[in-house]
Amino acid sequence: MIDRGRKHIVVTGGAGFLGTNLCRHLLMQGHVVTCVDNFRTGGMDILRKLAELGTLNIVRQDITEPVAIENVDEIYNLACSASPVHYQADPVHTLKTCVHGSLNLLEMARYSNARIFQASTSEVYGDPEAHPQRESYRGSVNPVGPRACYDEGKRCAETLFLNYHRQHKVPVKVGRIFNTYGPYMRPNDGRVVPNLIGQALRNRPLTIYGDGNQTRSFCYVDDLIEAMQRFMATPEDVTGPLNLGNPVEISMLELADTIIDLTGSRSRITFRPLPVDDPIRRCPDISHAREKLGWSPSTPLVEGLKRTIDYFERTLMAKGHTHSK
Ligand code: NAD
Ligand code: UDP
Repeated sequence: MIDRGRKHIVVTGGAGFLGTNLCRHLLMQGHVVTCVDNFRTGGMDILRKLAELGTLNIVRQDITEPVAIENVDEIYNLACSASPVHYQADPVHTLKTCVHGSLNLLEMARYSNARIFQASTSEVYGDPEAHPQRESYRGSVNPVGPRACYDEGKRCAETLFLNYHRQHKVPVKVGRIFNTYGPYMRPNDGRVVPNLIGQALRNRPLTIYGDGNQTRSFCYVDDLIEAMQRFMATPEDVTGPLNLGNPVEISMLELADTIIDLTGSRSRITFRPLPVDDPIRRCPDISHAREKLGWSPSTPLVEGLKRTIDYFERTLMAKGHTHSK
């Protein structure tokens, strides 16, 4: 602890979507932040701007190598590409990030007596047979499919975290994050929200994979960051796993229609093949998060999408990529 209430907080994957949002919140709260990122997909430009808000150290490092940072109070382990396009591009590295990376950070937490949050995922449930998904559901993951590098990597990471808690008393917080969206997503991220917003703003066809009846439940990023911080502040026996997300479920076709309405776009919808093992339904049961964190998301999808569209408009316009309506 640097002084009363002001902490030294390490954010791995701090240059990514959630990491950038988290660093911003932590800096505005007056904490000293160290961002560790290999910058494979994350960007340096936004982080440099965030440095104006307070003390932000930026360390270019891959977490598959041992991480040695001193006097740390809290660690948020967010490093790992979250977009299927990116995590499948180098699947062995994705597995190493989840497994070796988690081990390296758990060792750092152990020797620094730091609390550590693990960004786990709804993907640990695979293509779920139970609906909505509760933490007690053990999932339906194809261990040899193209998504397995991420799903099984994150499942193994959960095992590591809970065992470091049982065996070495490390205070761990495992959050199973469901689809989250908002400002600081990169236009070329590949996930559905940035894809569809980018396409709508350019009046290009919106790509829907499969028939578009598959569902997801989208959480606005500020709501998620609040849940993560509340979780970090819970007593040491609250380890999770806890589902963190917004339980309002929507199909991809409904999402596309909403984005076309909100952007006033002239775009139509075009259909592409459904990727292998793409989950059909996904919706969190968040009763444990409500009970343990006194938290539930408060931003309606339309409100969160409007803020995200504003952000994309500004970002794309700065790069000269939007067409006037
Ligand atoms: P992101 O892809 O936008 O950011 C990931 C960041 O991690 C990038 O900056 C990348 O350069 C960095 N990174 C990747 N591998 C690394 C490594 N080996 N060493 C150092 N840095 C590395 O992802 P995001 O949406 O910000 O997600 C952050 C975390 O939350 C991820 O662990 C992801 O699995 C988890 N998560 C996110 C969501 C979501 O909807 N955003 C949902 C479930 C889980
Ligand atoms: N998807 C889509 N169009 C796109 C990108 C994704 O229809 O341009 C679909 C994808 O097949 C999945 C859903 O949207 O059914 C959410 O995909 P995303 O990659 O955002 O997240 P995940 O599949 O990891 O939940």
